[in-house]
Amino acid sequence: PVDIYGRERRNSHGINMGRDSELAELKQGMERAVQNDWSAAPTGKSARAGEQGTVFSPVDTGVAVGKVTWTDPESVSDAVSAAIAAQKDWDGRGAAERADILDRIGDLYETHCEELMAICAREGGKSLLDGIAEVREAVDFCRYYAMQARNEMAEPVELPGPTGESNTLRMHGKGVFVCISPWNFPLAIFTGQIVAALVTGNAVLAKPAEQTPLIAARAVSLMQEAGVPEDVIQCLPGDGKVGAALTGDPRIAGVAFTGSTETARIINRSLAEREGPLATLIAETGGQNAMVVDSSALPEQVVKDVIHSAFLSAGQRCSALRVLYVQADVADRMLEMLAGAMEEIAVGDPGLLETDIGPVIDADQLKMLQDHAERMDREAKLIARTPLREDLPKGHWFAPRAYEIDGIDRLEREIFGPILHVVRYKSSELDAVIDKINGTGYGLTLGVHSRIDRVYRHIAHRACVGNAYVNRNMTGAVVGVQPFGGEGLSGTGPKAGGPHYLYRFVTERTLTNNT
Ligand code: GLU
Repeated sequence: PVDIYGRERRNSHGINMGRDSELAELKQGMERAVQNDWSAAPTGKSARAGEQGTVFSPVDTGVAVGKVTWTDPESVSDAVSAAIAAQKDWDGRGAAERADILDRIGDLYETHCEELMAICAREGGKSLLDGIAEVREAVDFCRYYAMQARNEMAEPVELPGPTGESNTLRMHGKGVFVCISPWNFPLAIFTGQIVAALVTGNAVLAKPAEQTPLIAARAVSLMQEAGVPEDVIQCLPGDGKVGAALTGDPRIAGVAFTGSTETARIINRSLAEREGPLATLIAETGGQNAMVVDSSALPEQVVKDVIHSAFLSAGQRCSALRVLYVQADVADRMLEMLAGAMEEIAVGDPGLLETDIGPVIDADQLKMLQDHAERMDREAKLIARTPLREDLPKGHWFAPRAYEIDGIDRLEREIFGPILHVVRYKSSELDAVIDKINGTGYGLTLGVHSRIDRVYRHIAHRACVGNAYVNRNMTGAVVGVQPFGGEGLSGTGPKAGGPHYLYRFVTERTLTNNT
């Protein structure tokens, strides 16, 4: 495979879980890793310890996964000072040296794949397939951004000097970047934001999601082992107070954030209100993602892709399918098949290959989903509900559900989890459907199932979304292959894992020399 400039590039390799020996080796490795004493605490020379806590598994809330020492919010300002002091030297090292360090991080992640997967499973409830995808995506981010920085940012760009001057354009880090990442991709997105900021010459203060500090701590220790200095990457586990102290500091140069649209607005406001340099905000937020299925689609394929897009990863992806539009002529048959397939989804221990879906992340998310399901039970028609086994441990389990609703207007906001909403439409209403989808204001992913060229081209052209997928599932964007990110309420761009991402982390300086 080659990148858009025609250069050789490879994505991280996988594991053949269909082969018994490879699966057994993986599981043994994961079990051995569970013996480790996982913990998280603020890193860097200046951040100070605050309160202590324990991380419990969403799979079994009686199981402690590790210990966390939260960051004292009062010490955030000192951590910023330390990052500022360390950044100049880091920026001065040049992109080629930093790219080598990113490659080493990727290699270390691959060497520690089983341990990283074990933490993702126990702390984040990730299934085996999601766990391996998580590590691979994190590795891909390291290698992809390393390649780009090496090719595009290591040397100054020579420009014409018509009057005998020499002109060059150089790229430098902007300064200190704050990276705030979500629990649903606690390694991949955490890593992607950080390594993009690092390779471009920034120092980073990273605040992982409160639910997943352990995987973040392990990732940062591997980054340091790869050669990133202690104050250049600081991990500050904490809640919103730590986040607010970081984004309110007048000295930071930018924020890379993935999470809810509401939080992105709060950060945006905080950046606008503080004194100091005008900061960059890179936000990747939610979606009200739809799939449009017309009567020419292959029902078996549609059902498989709907199950995948709406329910796998427990629907806890911002790319996941929330609203399925089915053409009325084929709806009864499709929905009957969907209900049948939903009967077969296996919800349970994420450590088993036969498990399709693990738990949802925590009690708050579970409550939000239960409340929404209760409302749907009153207002909508239940199509199917996956049965839950009775012998599950005491974890945050939620049975996938599908409801038929009379329109997308019923949904005021994104429901982050395995609840699918279905709307029937007549073929004459197709444009109105697209207008409704655009009318939500979100623009992240869209699925289309149609075997008529004209139809899917029309939909893909008219819909304002960042990632459209035709005749396949609509999650799992691959680094360098499907650059990922939305527009409108879904984010600011640039696209993660795409060719233009790094440019938002740099400042350009022109040097004119009249020798
Ligand atoms: N990149 C992921 C995907 O394509 C989603 C990222 C997210 O949930 O924030 O499924």
